[in-house]
Amino acid sequence: MAAPGLRLGAERLFEMPAVLERLSRYNSTSQAFAEVLRLPKQQLRKLLYPLQEVERFLAPDGRQDFHLRIFDPSPEDIARADNIFTATERNRIDYVSSAVRIDHAPDLPRPEVCFIGRSNVGKSSLIKALFSLAPEVEVRVSKKPGHTKKMNFFKVGKHFTVVDMPGYGFRAPEDFVDMVETYLKERRNLKRTFLLVDSVVGIQKTDNTAIEMCEEFALPYVIVLTKIDKSSKGHLLKQVLQIQKFVNMKTQGCFPQLFPVSAVTFSGIHLLRCFIASVTGNLD
Ligand code: GDP
Repeated sequence: MAAPGLRLGAERLFEMPAVLERLSRYNSTSQAFAEVLRLPKQQLRKLLYPLQEVERFLAPDGRQDFHLRIFDPSPEDIARADNIFTATERNRIDYVSSAVRIDHAPDLPRPEVCFIGRSNVGKSSLIKALFSLAPEVEVRVSKKPGHTKKMNFFKVGKHFTVVDMPGYGFRAPEDFVDMVETYLKERRNLKRTFLLVDSVVGIQKTDNTAIEMCEEFALPYVIVLTKIDKSSKGHLLKQVLQIQKFVNMKTQGCFPQLFPVSAVTFSGIHLLRCFIASVTGNLD
């Protein structure tokens, strides 16, 4: 996988005037991102590179040899990804359709990424946050018991498709496993599965089932830690280290970097957009 700006991203926050200068060459969308870049440095780091905050906690003496980060893009690449997620006349971002069975799924040729997770893990909130630059997009949520849960397909311009899978666990429909399993096994253009884990409670039994499923099908997947605004730094650090150890020791297909996010503070959202753009080949 291409990792733009490997290990350079966060460090480049310190050359901000030069970054702003380069960004001013982009179109008006990046002006919004340029505003983000004007935030005070610490706030900016927390927003764009939340994992770096955790690292700083681990190595307060500024040791540079300890890195939890592998994907560490530059602010310019993050701005490029934000452009891809911004709805314009020429870059239409739309809900396409829903399906309860894989053979009803729309035939979309673009690379695809999907989001899976337990009910209540924060999946709809995260997808809404990812699509905040396309306010017309309606992220459909059907949480009423008894309602059939569906896979929802969204197209992001000519770039890729995002699929919101039904939540598992509590009140999951009986055929849920069949639906998700078949999708994961058969969807040819699926480039990456984003498996959401609640950072407050860590990996639960049903999360393990989903992890086993991804491993069994040898899928490339990524663990996203949701709701990080709810935890103290210490608690978040404990969870990050525990889950990172689990990923390193027990998984094969999981990307060896966690993506902590908050749909409330938007921390980690820009980075996740950038990762999606990268794994779908849009930043090459
Ligand atoms: P889903 O069932 O996985 O789609 O979960 P939702 O997105 O509906 O979120 C479940 C609950 O968690 C809701 O009450 C959300 O407001 C809350 N929630 C979701 N994301 C966050 C977050 O990043 N921070 C906080 N504090 N609450 C969140």
